[in-house]
Amino acid sequence: MTGRLAGKMAVVVGAGQQPGETIGNGKAIALTFAHEGAEVLCVDRDLPRAEGTVAEIMAAGGTAFALGADIVVDSEAIVAAALERWGRIDICVDNVGIGHRGDGPAHAHDDEAFETVFAVNFTGARRLVKAVLAPMREAGAGSIVLISSLASTAGANMVAYEISKAALNRLAIATALGSAKRGVRCNAILPGLIDTPMGVGGTAERDGRDLAAQREARSAMVPLKGGMGTAWDVANAALFLASDEAKFVTGVLLPVDGGQGARIG
Ligand code: NAD
Repeated sequence: MTGRLAGKMAVVVGAGQQPGETIGNGKAIALTFAHEGAEVLCVDRDLPRAEGTVAEIMAAGGTAFALGADIVVDSEAIVAAALERWGRIDICVDNVGIGHRGDGPAHAHDDEAFETVFAVNFTGARRLVKAVLAPMREAGAGSIVLISSLASTAGANMVAYEISKAALNRLAIATALGSAKRGVRCNAILPGLIDTPMGVGGTAERDGRDLAAQREARSAMVPLKGGMGTAWDVANAALFLASDEAKFVTGVLLPVDGGQGARIG
């Protein structure tokens, strides 16, 4: 295989996607990595979703494997499965992120929502990072990419989601600094408003709009011509950070947001 990730072994957790008209971030990342020559272990809590991504990769001539696993409880098993197959892991992406109906502003969210969102969005990531750091530090190389959110710095009144992603940002920096001397890089991507089924569908209900109106409203908030981004924009950023082209880049929180985070007022 040739490509920007030729010969790399990559784990992508959250590599399936919520069904819908557009592609999700995790699936786009897995497809992009495979297109660029990586073998990809596609992990999702929902096995048929991971298998769907693998089928598309194989149909396009790439190499991928599916694993049904939950990032919160199975992180060590995910890393063990990859090591059993390859003996090493070059790239690890955590794309998992959820919202919750009970989330809301600081004065009005419920405890169960906070604990669930924090466990999935942050604790799962922390456990995955800890598990994958062992073989990467031993190998003296590796690239970890965490999919955070612009909501970690510029929120929309969802404290559980925002705080879980802010913690993820800090995890990226702490990991980068803690393992720099061992040759392991860690960076986070902060997507802004992306046209994914979960991003649009999940917020449409909350905001009381149909899908078309929600797309229009989200696009209108983006400074850059063209409106919302697509999962391919997130995948291209992940490709760069995962690849050796970014060998001098670590501890970065990269917004992929059409300028939304740069706008004040
Ligand atoms: P997606 O389509 O990539 O779906 C995420 C996948 O994660 C789903 O297939 C789901 O089954 C899986 N998953 C959920 N919980 C899991 C768990 N505990 N263990 C393993 N797999 C699990 O979704 P998306 O909308 O593209 O979002 C992907 C990421 O991007 C999330 O972290 C999200 O917070 C972040 N993000 C999205 C947007 C946006 O506008 N879509 C904006 C900012 C950040």
